[in-house]
Amino acid sequence: MSKDTLPSRSENFSEWYNQIVLKAELADYAPVRGCMVVRPYGWTLWENIQAGLDRRFKETGHVNAAFPLFIPMSFLEKEKAHVEGFSPELAVVTVGGGEQLEEPLVVRPTSETIIGYMYAKWIKSYRDLPVLINQWGNVVRWEMRTKLFLRTLEFYWQEGHTAHATAEEADEETLQMLNVYADFAINDAAVPVIPGLKSEREKFAGAVRSYTIEGMMGDTRALQSGTSHFLGQNFAKAFDIQYLDWNNELQYVWTTSWGLSTRFVGAIIMTHGDDKGLILPPKLAPTQVVIVPIYKSDEEKSKVLAVVERVRSELNEFRVHVDDRSEVTPGYKFNDWEMRGVPLRIEIGPRDVQNNSVAFARRDKPGREGKSFVSQDQLREQVDEALKTIQAALYERALAFREANTHDPKDYEELKEVVKNGWAFSWWCGSEECELKVKEDTKATTRCIPLDQPEGEGLCVVCNQPATQKVYFARAY
Ligand SMILES: [Zn+2]
Repeated sequence: MSKDTLPSRSENFSEWYNQIVLKAELADYAPVRGCMVVRPYGWTLWENIQAGLDRRFKETGHVNAAFPLFIPMSFLEKEKAHVEGFSPELAVVTVGGGEQLEEPLVVRPTSETIIGYMYAKWIKSYRDLPVLINQWGNVVRWEMRTKLFLRTLEFYWQEGHTAHATAEEADEETLQMLNVYADFAINDAAVPVIPGLKSEREKFAGAVRSYTIEGMMGDTRALQSGTSHFLGQNFAKAFDIQYLDWNNELQYVWTTSWGLSTRFVGAIIMTHGDDKGLILPPKLAPTQVVIVPIYKSDEEKSKVLAVVERVRSELNEFRVHVDDRSEVTPGYKFNDWEMRGVPLRIEIGPRDVQNNSVAFARRDKPGREGKSFVSQDQLREQVDEALKTIQAALYERALAFREANTHDPKDYEELKEVVKNGWAFSWWCGSEECELKVKEDTKATTRCIPLDQPEGEGLCVVCNQPATQKVYFARAY
């Protein structure tokens, strides 16, 4: 395999994915098994994801803060379900500065406990509520089977932690942030996601209810792409977070937490990419437009570069890169930027100089279909239009793919067939027994009970008992 070709996406999706991450220079393997190095191109993509989310968090009244990486082991033990859920994945520090520590320190797998401890100090009265804090940081979960971006020992994310006076308010917050994630995924990343409730079995360790946005990847497997949890008073009671209410009576607060991680980079790759590499949604792409000058003689070069320079300055509101490397051919550059998923390529050659034109090549439509010649006049408007068209086309394509691969099996036998290569959207009685049976028979799990439910009732696809809700069953990352 040469440097710039990938394994076929349809034949070996897993290896196709690994190779894109490496060849597009998003990330690399670290010396410690399961850790990743996020390279500048990948980090810039993550920064753009951060910016899209951070803006939405602030618009909904949240502020950022930073809590420590180390958490006393005893903190995790205070919430029973939480410690049971996380202990198999903990990294624990027992030696510091050459001395055995009196109490082992956990490298945070998530920060509910330490933030709960601090909230108990800070929250005294109803006037202190709500507390709406988010933190951008890294966490460590000792995973056995890892894959770049999708599951690594250390990953980057944001975790929001809020405290409220009433259950209703905390519940509203949980759903508000779920909708923030869905809005970001759909409108910025062009990743169609389904917001819904996790089953009891699949919920976060320590939550009363967990919500998720689930996306269908290019191999039809599901990816949990962001979660929002209603924690009830579980952590308030474990950490004694109490406030004096309007009647001067002590009450426990109600808390939430919500997170989205570098895993989302994996969602973007697996939703949009093709055999030529990455395809990035224009709103998040580190480079939105790459300009490739084409010339042979020195005379052509000076004429072409003069136009390139003018075009570049006219497009300064976009993230534009001019590939003026002289040691590689234009064809090489095309492949290179296709691998990196730049949404729009502009080619400018001697004929374009003469005709007052440029060539557009859309990344989402390789070859002739995505190519057009446009006038150099009003280029800003035309680029803006092209990027919007690409953004919308990526979303539509992903949505059509999901719809084509989501089935409503008529019975359990058919369910077993369809989840081999797709999702089943089926009535479910809600019992863990039926959920587990599907998992054992097919490896598919319940992904979410979508908020948007059909009318009426049906019969559970597994046990045939009456069911009031439909759920997505799918194999997942
Ligand atoms: Zn059932």
